[in-house]
Amino acid sequence: MSVQAGDRPRLVFAAPRGAPKAPTHLADLDREGRRAAAAALGLPAYRAEQLARHYYGLTHDGPLTDLPAAERDRLRAALLPPLLDAVRTVACDDGATRKTLWRATGGALVESVLMRYAERTTVCVSSQAGCGMGCPFCATGQAGLTRNLSTAEIVEQVVAAARDTARGETGAPARLSNVVFMGMGEPLANYARVVAALRRLTSPAPDGLGLSARSVTVSTVGLVPAIGRLAREGLPVTLALSLHAPDDELRDTLVPVNTRWPVREVLAAAWAYGATTGRRVSVEYVLINGVNDQPERADLLARLLRGRLVHVNLIPLNPTPGSDWRQTAPASEREFVRRLRGAGVTTTVRDTRGREIAGACGQLAAAG
Ligand code: SAH
Ligand code: SF4
Repeated sequence: MSVQAGDRPRLVFAAPRGAPKAPTHLADLDREGRRAAAAALGLPAYRAEQLARHYYGLTHDGPLTDLPAAERDRLRAALLPPLLDAVRTVACDDGATRKTLWRATGGALVESVLMRYAERTTVCVSSQAGCGMGCPFCATGQAGLTRNLSTAEIVEQVVAAARDTARGETGAPARLSNVVFMGMGEPLANYARVVAALRRLTSPAPDGLGLSARSVTVSTVGLVPAIGRLAREGLPVTLALSLHAPDDELRDTLVPVNTRWPVREVLAAAWAYGATTGRRVSVEYVLINGVNDQPERADLLARLLRGRLVHVNLIPLNPTPGSDWRQTAPASEREFVRRLRGAGVTTTVRDTRGREIAGACGQLAAAG
């Protein structure tokens, strides 16, 4: 099957001007910001800290009995405005996978997916409404970029997932352990808000949810300068690089941002990230039948990755409506894995959790 190179989508790095903005929320603010917000309400700074303890302790929906009755509603109204309205939740895998479609300020639709495994519970969150990177196999990419999500809109997806997990909505009550930025959007194209969200997720209470940085994964299409910046933030989150092809000719078409930062540069940035943070880098590779799954490409990929602190995650394609591209046949997938492992490259095939609820990237929102 050939890859169309003719009508390459335009790359969009900045959200449209004048896009609707979410109201400011507690989770947008760091400690100083919270204190200033309390002062602006004529309240002592410690009221903001009490509210933050409730929020990150997942008790903010409760009676807030340690706050004076007269102040509760004002604090709630000023600092906990509703941001995401659940339009629909669908479950599969006997309730162990739950996908939520949210309507955000201005009507933008975003989604998150909560996945319960034996040893961990992971939420997959969106960082943008839509995406401007135009990868042709991705439903989100086809829709284009609507707007960046605010820090609090990202954090709210995680807080909702943590609350549902604690309430036992995915099985026995548990703690949310992992967050992956693999929903809609390119996280590093919404850099400042995503990094602030990472700080809220990983800071201990009352500044955040206290998740371990290593259990938070940021997946990127490979914005090289932003990978360098992220390495210097002192936030050792796991980096996942969506490579999808080992050669520039093919990657230019599958991942259009490759025309800006080619394979050699993006891999150099990933290795530098690994060296600075001490973290093993994940390389994501969507297997598309007859497009990027040939044995020669497995060998070329192995040559690029051999000897590095890396883990390859092969993702069976979730075909998008209107596309001829299909999943790789089982025998070709096995051969691809065999060649990588034969070269000493740690390789796994991603489980296809949530497929029957249109699990991959952007498909629930695309369904409307
Ligand atoms: N924009 C970021 C993160 C969100 S996409 C990125 O591209 O890395 C998360 C992962 O889902 C990426 O590896 C992406 O390539 C993959 N993906 C997108 N569409 C897919 C599809 N139709 N089937 C399987 N994986 C897909
Ligand atoms: Fe955007 Fe990632 Fe989809 Fe590419 S794969 S269009 S970067 S969300």
